[in-house]
Amino acid sequence: MSEAIIEIDGLRKSFGSHAALDGLDLRVPAGSVFGFLGRNGAGKTTTIKHLLGLIKADAGSARIFGRGVDDPGVSVGIRQRIGFVTEEKDLYPYMTVDGIIRFMRPFFPGWRRDLEQRYLDLFDLPRNKSIAQLSKGMRSKLMMLLAISHGAELLILDEPMDGLDPAVVEQLLRELVAIAADQGTTIFFSSHQLPDVEQIADHVAIIDRGKTLLCGELDDLKVRYQRLSVVCSDEPPSDIGRLDGVESVRRNGRMLSVLVSRNADAVAARLRQCSSTAVERFPVTLKEVFLEHVGNSSCSG
Ligand code: ATP
Repeated sequence: MSEAIIEIDGLRKSFGSHAALDGLDLRVPAGSVFGFLGRNGAGKTTTIKHLLGLIKADAGSARIFGRGVDDPGVSVGIRQRIGFVTEEKDLYPYMTVDGIIRFMRPFFPGWRRDLEQRYLDLFDLPRNKSIAQLSKGMRSKLMMLLAISHGAELLILDEPMDGLDPAVVEQLLRELVAIAADQGTTIFFSSHQLPDVEQIADHVAIIDRGKTLLCGELDDLKVRYQRLSVVCSDEPPSDIGRLDGVESVRRNGRMLSVLVSRNADAVAARLRQCSSTAVERFPVTLKEVFLEHVGNSSCSG
């Protein structure tokens, strides 16, 4: 297994009596494109803010590049190696696009003028306009430009596609994959757009109510999760839902549709006993896995 760039253990953070993070664990491997998923209020932004040193957790630990994010002696050094986009997309409104780029450059010794120019052109950003005059999507693009031009080893992006039109989202997805492939940059991003995540991520975590429900390689998830479908000859057996690996069972008359997270062969063998026809197997999407894990939980936000 490759080295972890981000390691989070048992992170806890409460706002008043509400636990936003309730013992969250996470491993983000070096070089991965990592989709960080959860419903509204699940705790994604709180986690990202803690990683960026914007808030302090109550308990647990978080390390980036093997260094504790709470350690004031190393936090500036860590931040120079990270490009980030926060949910608020806050920028100094009185500065121009050019002005903020010139302001940011000296903070980052590895600043990439070639990438800066590439994204100015690609995103069609008006250099002399003030940030206050930019649309929401334009501000998102500017934040992406600033994050990417750091020449960072790690990009931490909180809903980077938020506010962008579908054509720009498509461009940005391609760019993120290229940055990871060409420069070995690790990309950790939160998003509600599951098809986009599925398109570019190689690892995902699903969190809910401040806890990690699932964390791992997307390909492994897709191999393990399958939907099995069968038409039973008689009354469908009642024990299917209790078999190891069965996540959910849908029944429509004598037709059974079973979602499994492992042990697909054993579950298929049991289904064959009740049917004279073949058991059909279907791949599942990330959206199905997501909904299966958090779709029925009530919103914590
Ligand atoms: P979304 O997808 O909607 O952006 P999220 O997963 O990023 O959600 P967080 O913003 O981390 O969720 O919020 C987690 C929980 O903590 C929510 O219930 C939220 O209302 C609460 N919370 C976050 N920040 C604060 C704050 N400063 N004060 C009080 N409650 C907060």
